[in-house]
Amino acid sequence: NEKRIREMEKLSVVGELAAGIAHEIRNPLTSLIGFTKIIKEKITDSSINEYLVIMEDELDRINQIVNEFMFIAKPNETMEIKEANINALVRNVIKFMEPQTNLKSILVNLYFSDKITAFCDPNQIKQVLINIIQNAIEATSESLSIDISLKKLDENQFKIEIRDRGCGISEERLKRLFEPFYTTKEKGTGLGLMVCKRIIEIHNGTIEVKSNPGFGTIFEIVLPIKQKTSKHMIKHQS
Ligand code: ADP
Ligand code: MG
Repeated sequence: NEKRIREMEKLSVVGELAAGIAHEIRNPLTSLIGFTKIIKEKITDSSINEYLVIMEDELDRINQIVNEFMFIAKPNETMEIKEANINALVRNVIKFMEPQTNLKSILVNLYFSDKITAFCDPNQIKQVLINIIQNAIEATSESLSIDISLKKLDENQFKIEIRDRGCGISEERLKRLFEPFYTTKEKGTGLGLMVCKRIIEIHNGTIEVKSNPGFGTIFEIVLPIKQKTSKHMIKHQS
């Protein structure tokens, strides 16, 4: 137990450090990605091209991790609060993820109880939904469905619920879900849910998980309809 606490502390220190270093990695990485693309286009030798395709894939993966770290370091610096149609935003995300749901014949059911317009950073809320739905797809067997519901709780807040019928999460794993690097997947980063939590927190909302191993998982997000005035809002009202 003491060993686990130490491990967790180490992880969060590593997470913070990496977030800082990510910024420094970004520029050289961008030129590596660009030049790899150029070389790939110029080289016709297919035995070399094979390696370049792998290099491009791996560089994309590093890029994804670096972007997630950068966001963890300074989420509210990139925040842009706008008035957004949440129903349309959810539909948009489902449309965007259709190639993946189609691949597993997963049906996404939408239950919209209310029409909701709220102040948020639409791109960040999209990112949250993409990360959670992505996990739901990965946890779900072929031909099962995912339910997404949207409703107003009162004049001040609304709730988005994402329910899957996938493998579920044991109580022990549930506790570690939002930790950086916590993953049970071979190619996972373990950063998706941590990013979700940070985004929801800077929107003054809450995110909760309920799960029944073997039956499925529910993610509940509660968000305010209006955001307290902040420097970010003032910037975008002008
Ligand atoms: P990653 O997807 O890269 O592993 P995440 O932070 O998105 O990282 O998720 C962390 C872990 O939480 C996953 O590896 C998985 O074990 C678990 N998890 C998240 N969502 C679900 C879900 N809907 N069903 C089952 N397990 C889940
Ligand atoms: Mg994930």
